Amino acid sequence: MTKVVDCQSTLIANFGMPVWENPTEFMMEAVFKHEGMKYRYISTEVPADKLEAAFEGVKAMGYKGFNCTLPHKQKIIPLLDGLGESAELMGTVNCVVERNGQYIGENTDGKGYTESLKEITEIAGKTLLILGAGGAARAIAVECALENAAKIIIVNRTPSSGQELAELVDEKTGASGEFIPLEGELKIPEGVDIVINATNIGLYPDTTKVPIDMTTLKPNMVVSDVIPNPPQTPFIQKAAAQGCTTIDGLGMLVNQGKIAIKYWSGKEVSAQVMRQSLLDLFSKSIW
Ligand code: NDP
Repeated sequence: MTKVVDCQSTLIANFGMPVWENPTEFMMEAVFKHEGMKYRYISTEVPADKLEAAFEGVKAMGYKGFNCTLPHKQKIIPLLDGLGESAELMGTVNCVVERNGQYIGENTDGKGYTESLKEITEIAGKTLLILGAGGAARAIAVECALENAAKIIIVNRTPSSGQELAELVDEKTGASGEFIPLEGELKIPEGVDIVINATNIGLYPDTTKVPIDMTTLKPNMVVSDVIPNPPQTPFIQKAAAQGCTTIDGLGMLVNQGKIAIKYWSGKEVSAQVMRQSLLDLFSKSIW
């Protein structure tokens, strides 16, 4: 009898609430197709109080893993069988991988960022300034500290979370951590090598200006933005116009996905195909 339904694909989920604006499925499905992989990536809206039931579903249906985004990045931790090193330090998980029947929590956001940074410059020995202290900033700060950055300066509007992240870096990693409260326009201190906007500022359709005095950016600095859409934010464009080397937010997004696929399948996939799929998506008017 002819098979009418192919049940052989390896399943990967993306759990969040909401997920309708999350572009990850688009780039994952594009690269699975390009690489000829029998994988499916399924975005599913899961309310906070249904995460445990959704995770039981993952186990029952034999999913190889899943990404999790807000509001599940911390709440998933007690349900898991173990954590990778950086996920443990950050206290947040964005990627769950089934390994020998155990579901292990990883964080690929920071690793995605460091991969894109390492294409441009060494991290070891550098001084980084991170604007923001939320999930993205936390992932970047911890992963750069694990890559032997010398110093990480956290600048944040809300002092408590900024201070807490600087202390985490200072006390739990080999890097030195410092906190500067954000008051008005930030002047970049002397000695900073890498400046990162890790706030929500600039995410389409937001047009707020990143609160950095752009005259204090120097051409020898690397300046990057976590915002993936638009890929070339006004912040990145202005920094490039001043001679800084820039990295856009697509680098982090693509690389975290590439690392997750390596975890799930063992396969290295094309970053270029993933990046192009996002550029195509963001060029459409609905985005
Ligand atoms: P969070 O909500 O966890 O943190 C947001 C951070 O931005 C906080 O530090 C917040 O400061 C700060 N912030 C927000 N608005 C302002 C403002 N107007 N002025 C000053 N500071 C502000 O979000 P995430 O860290 O999870 O995400 C941040 C951005 O990173 C999002 O736009 C997301 O799209 C992007 N991102 C990109 C990824 C990629 O792969 N490229 C991966 C993950 C995230 P405060 O503490 O004072 O509220």
